[in-house]
Amino acid sequence: MSSKKSLTLGSILFASTMVWTAPSSAFVLLDKIPHRLAATPEAPTVTFVWDELAPAIEKKEDLFNGDKSGLTDVEYMGSMLQLAMDQWNEVHGSYLKMAFSRDATIVEDSEDEVHSITLNTSGNVTSAAFASPNFHIDGKDGNIISDCDIQIYDKSTDARDFISTLVHELGHCVGLGHNHTNYKSIMGYARVGQNPSYKLAADDKAGAIWLYPDPTAIDESPTELVACGVVQGAGNSGFGIKMTAGILLALPLLWAGLAGMSARGRT
Ligand SMILES: [Zn+2]
Repeated sequence: MSSKKSLTLGSILFASTMVWTAPSSAFVLLDKIPHRLAATPEAPTVTFVWDELAPAIEKKEDLFNGDKSGLTDVEYMGSMLQLAMDQWNEVHGSYLKMAFSRDATIVEDSEDEVHSITLNTSGNVTSAAFASPNFHIDGKDGNIISDCDIQIYDKSTDARDFISTLVHELGHCVGLGHNHTNYKSIMGYARVGQNPSYKLAADDKAGAIWLYPDPTAIDESPTELVACGVVQGAGNSGFGIKMTAGILLALPLLWAGLAGMSARGRT
């Protein structure tokens, strides 16, 4: 038996305000315990359904090397959604893959357990987009984000601001909250509108790896790190080299884990 909770932007803001983060930099989870999309290393793909509607998109020449500036808003938004998802899909060490399908009949519904991306035409809005991660409480290991709807507000937006917003909102669906300590983070609390980059920062990637650790990434032969181990004096001992490389490989995960534990341990 599982109960269901909903995270509104207000509660995300509250949670991210209350969650402690290291003074240097770290990723921030949505809540005190982790919430994850229902992805596994064996079935890594989570699909969103887009209603094929788009706001007016300005300055289309600012993305894709200007190659797509002749597209309609809807065509262009399809390319932007793919680009935004690719930022999260291409994090080495994270197994999560996001994809989208198209269905003009899909509507925003926090109860239907469909991850939707829809255009909100209600007006009276203050931000370009809004993510609502809803989750099932599944036990001590964390909760499953069973329905993350992203609403795009129907107002004119510049392509570069819009792609940053899409990557940011997808980050909430991934399970990340606002990062207060690193404004270069795509999840930075105040970064939208300030930083034109839509690329993930190290903290964003660390968050994705911590939530969705790819077991095959650990098993890969780390050629650069083995060489590094040799340079650092592991000598001819194969065991020493492996240990050095192993420790070096484990550091990011260890660091990410510690950051997560800290984030979960304090309110
Ligand atoms: Zn946000």
